[in-house]
Order: sequence, then structure tokens, then C-alpha cells
Amino acid sequence: MITRCGFRESHYYIGESDYVMLFFGMDPNLLRDLIRQRIHDGRLPRTHLIELGHWHGFGQACDGCGSTIARNQKMNVRMCADDWRTIRLHDDCFQIWDAERSLMARAAGA
Ligand SMILES: [Zn+2]
Repeated sequence: MITRCGFRESHYYIGESDYVMLFFGMDPNLLRDLIRQRIHDGRLPRTHLIELGHWHGFGQACDGCGSTIARNQKMNVRMCADDWRTIRLHDDCFQIWDAERSLMARAAGA
């Protein structure tokens, strides 16, 4: 069952439009820089986010990398506890954000 899902997903990736290829072709270091930059300029929060759920994307822009979250991609939906804004991230972008913000918190001596 899991194998079948994996196969179907990779099939979708091949058939998806350019932005998906762009996202998957993105250098992970570039992605990390981009997300770090967004945390610095306030577009992404530094504080803990309330988990709202995981869904498949339906065409929104990811708040982390700016690419569209395609239907075949997992979307992580969170709410910022400070200003109640909703943050939508690719699962991968969420992991990077989470790692970066804990690094920053540690560097700030929190
Ligand atoms: Zn993203």
C-alpha cells in the first residue's frame, strides 16, 4: 500500500508544472537561507506555532519558500500565537523553519 502511494506520488511529480520542479530542484541550503531570511525580516514568526492541521495543498503560496503548495504536497497549517496569523508551509519548509527558529532561540540565550 505504502509502495503504491509512493509510486503514485512520484508519477505526479513528473507530471506537475514547473513550480513543483522548481521547488524540488531548489538547493536545500538556499531554501534554508530563504527561510532564515524570512524569520529575520518577520515574515515568519520566531515563536511557537499552534498546530491547526496537515492537509494536501490546494494552490496557496508557502510562507517559507514562496512556491505554491501543490495538491500532491503535504501542507502544514499553523497559527501564530502572537498575532493570530495563519502560516502555511510545505512539510519540508516547516521542518527547516522549526530547526532554524530553535537555533536562533538558543543563540539568543533563551
Ligand atoms: Zn515551502
